[in-house]
Amino acid sequence: MDLNTQIAALNKVGKTTAIRLKKLGLNTISDLIFYFPFRYEDYSEIRLIKDLFATENVTIKVKVQMIANRRLRQRRKSLTEALVGDETGELKVIWFNQPFIAKNIKVGDELFLSGKYDGEKVQMVGPEYEKCDTNLKMDTNDTSRLRSKPTANGHTNTIHTARILPVYHLTEGVTQKQMRFLLSQCKRVMESVEDYLPEEIKSKNKFLELNKALLNIHFPESSDLAGQAEKRLKFDELFLIQLAIAKMKSDLKSNKSFKLAFLEKQTKEFVDSLPFTLTDAQKKCAWDIIQDLEKEKPMNRMLEGDVGSGKTVVVAVAMINVILNGYKAVLMAPTEILATQHYQGLQKLYSKQKLDICLMTGSKREVNGEKISKKDLLGKLEKGELDVIIGTHAVIQDNVEIKDLGLVVVDEQHRFGVKQRKALIEKDKEKNLIPHFLSMTATPIPRSLVLTLYGDLDLSIINQMPPGRKSIITKVVYEQQRLKAYDFIRSQIKEGRQIFVICPLIDPSDKLGVKSVKQEHERLDKQTFPDLNIGLMHGRLKGKEKEEVMTDFYNKKYDILVSTSVIEVGIDVPNATIMMIEGADRFGLAQLHQFRGRVGRGEFQSYCFLFSDNNSLQTRKRLKFMESCTDGFQLAEKDLELRGAGEVYGTRQSGLPDLKIAKLTDVEIIQLAQIESQRLIENGLVTPELEEKLRGTRVSFHYE
Ligand code: ADP
Ligand code: MG
Repeated sequence: MDLNTQIAALNKVGKTTAIRLKKLGLNTISDLIFYFPFRYEDYSEIRLIKDLFATENVTIKVKVQMIANRRLRQRRKSLTEALVGDETGELKVIWFNQPFIAKNIKVGDELFLSGKYDGEKVQMVGPEYEKCDTNLKMDTNDTSRLRSKPTANGHTNTIHTARILPVYHLTEGVTQKQMRFLLSQCKRVMESVEDYLPEEIKSKNKFLELNKALLNIHFPESSDLAGQAEKRLKFDELFLIQLAIAKMKSDLKSNKSFKLAFLEKQTKEFVDSLPFTLTDAQKKCAWDIIQDLEKEKPMNRMLEGDVGSGKTVVVAVAMINVILNGYKAVLMAPTEILATQHYQGLQKLYSKQKLDICLMTGSKREVNGEKISKKDLLGKLEKGELDVIIGTHAVIQDNVEIKDLGLVVVDEQHRFGVKQRKALIEKDKEKNLIPHFLSMTATPIPRSLVLTLYGDLDLSIINQMPPGRKSIITKVVYEQQRLKAYDFIRSQIKEGRQIFVICPLIDPSDKLGVKSVKQEHERLDKQTFPDLNIGLMHGRLKGKEKEEVMTDFYNKKYDILVSTSVIEVGIDVPNATIMMIEGADRFGLAQLHQFRGRVGRGEFQSYCFLFSDNNSLQTRKRLKFMESCTDGFQLAEKDLELRGAGEVYGTRQSGLPDLKIAKLTDVEIIQLAQIESQRLIENGLVTPELEEKLRGTRVSFHYE
């Protein structure tokens, strides 16, 4: 048995169990060993019966004096009753519906019992039990050498009782006991896992050996060792990510880009031509970018700014410099409709500049507002006749080649790495030449996350809103006020406005009782607003269909658009003034803030209504926070604190690494990992073992 052995090879793992474990992402022994508990319950102290009074979680060591099954009158229910005792007293133990226990345990057996003691009835109900000293029989391998020294309490290696018990995130049909049993079979493999971390890092930081850390994360010998194990494993996780980033960054250093001079006069002219004054934050960010462009080192920068903070114009200022230096700029968006909006927006911004601007998506190709054939467009790009190229993924297809491409900008976390950057430039050019790169996002990413994700990625933040923005009035709406809210919606629609309604899930079979979009759409369409036009959008629609619905809404074909969270990113419908969110408690604050940013894009006062039938105080408080807070960063920080990164940023699509044990709040370890990884890279100390480890490590899109 080794790390690559399938879990099915373990004792007592049948087909059903294997399928259930697969749901947790557990296929091999390695998956299992690296599936860490999220908390512990301490049952390590063994108590005497005479010392038990209150109702509490305890472990006792007892001898069985009597045990018997009893059938209950209710259908198919059974009860196992036992009388147990130690030198100091006796108590009763009850298990429900586990008649096999009476077969496993005989009178005279010595047991550990861990569980809740009921002080009033002097009994334990359903405790974990384990025979003293026999648990090792469950192990199919020879584990004798793993048998730990008897502890202070004089017992050996138990798995389910009389120790600190790990608690895992599980799925239906898998129990904590089962997990512990499976992991106990893997102890030998854990023991033999090779440690790839350089000796010097371990000794300097007093880290546990990897095998000891693994054994102690699942079967801690003490809470101190559990803590040390956690620290070592958190470090490993963050260190590998940081090392992979540091390595790619250093690889990137061998690449060069174009030095683009700052054209002060023309830049100023452009800025003066705008219908508004740039905010200080916008100026600062534009200046960051312009300075990067002047260097031969390829820019690798992220521009972060809340919805409506005015990122586009900052990009437009940068692009002017690229273009007037004789180079071209690409702006890529995740959807056709967003690309089209950027295209129209930039045409307006550049109306005095006489630039050649094109749009290129799967279905649309235009230059300066005129349709053009694909062949002609490709020809123009190859000859370098177009200044600004705006599009979707279509831009990075194989046959697109852009002469003198100097800058690539991607909006909203589009996956886009060095490879794609290279692919876009002329094929016969020098190999190590890549365009400058800028990504922009409205997702407020706290500093600790940026560090984890990107190492010390260059970051510019627009932390200021243009003046005169009407803030969006946000209200948590109680069920009794629903009809009133509908009246208000109707009055807004009468005035010509449009409404978004967001629901959390698609399926009517949704057991959680959360409103599904389809049901909600039908209800609003048939009952509440039969006279209005109501659109429907969800993630099961194809990309094209989604775009169609969005375009129809934009063109006022619908008064109301009912949607799942798919509308989250970037689209601008200035006429929409109400964002109504059902089951708001199901979303993170940062996400709610993104939804809210879909309204208030035009001249009209806008509103965000949060509905939730979860009346717990905590939920209410969390949602209420939205009423007063309009700062995306603050909301994101609060979310991180309350829910953790995976939930907040939906790890997969955001390109966030799936952290198993480390948290973004582990700032110290993050920094330590960064320092150590940089040191290794800079001094060429990356060992073959580390290289091997890195091959399986995913990092963020900036470096792929
Ligand atoms: P986002 O950062 O969400 O992409 P946009 O770039 O779309 O924001 O800008 C939102 C709106 O604000 C646009 O209509 C833009 O013209 C306007 N805007 C940008 N900067 C300013 C400013 N400094 N003053 C006033 N309006 C601005
Ligand atoms: Mg935008």
